[in-house]
Amino acid sequence: MAEETIFSKIIRREIPAEILYQDDLVTAFRDISPRAPTHILIIPNTVIPTVDDVKSADEAALGRMVTVAAKLAKEAGIDEDGYRLIMNCKEHGGQEVYHIHMHLLGGRPLGPMLA
Ligand code: 5GP
Repeated sequence: MAEETIFSKIIRREIPAEILYQDDLVTAFRDISPRAPTHILIIPNTVIPTVDDVKSADEAALGRMVTVAAKLAKEAGIDEDGYRLIMNCKEHGGQEVYHIHMHLLGGRPLGPMLA
């Protein structure tokens, strides 16, 4: 069983977070340290430490993360201008929390992806 992170406590609402969406598979909440006017994290409700740990049984949750990202982008009014979805994997990818998450960023021009 993978080790829990702070994100499991957010899913269970044991610590505060601005949760924007939750269903049987995924939870979405605002990033505590936003890097753009809209910065939302979308996570599976089960602990999957990294993208490298994703199994075929997780495909429904991973697919739901994308459809929920698109729904939240529309609700935030950033769908027309566009936005960015990012998943960081392990140290070189810049991953800090080892419970996979998709960043939804938008609300300003984000520039080229690679800096
Ligand atoms: P990573 O670098 O792992 O891809 O991104 C982790 C993200 O989680 C960071 O953007 C960070 O600001 C966010 N984060 C870390 N701890 C918390 C927390 O307790 N609450 C919320 N809402 N976001 C968090």
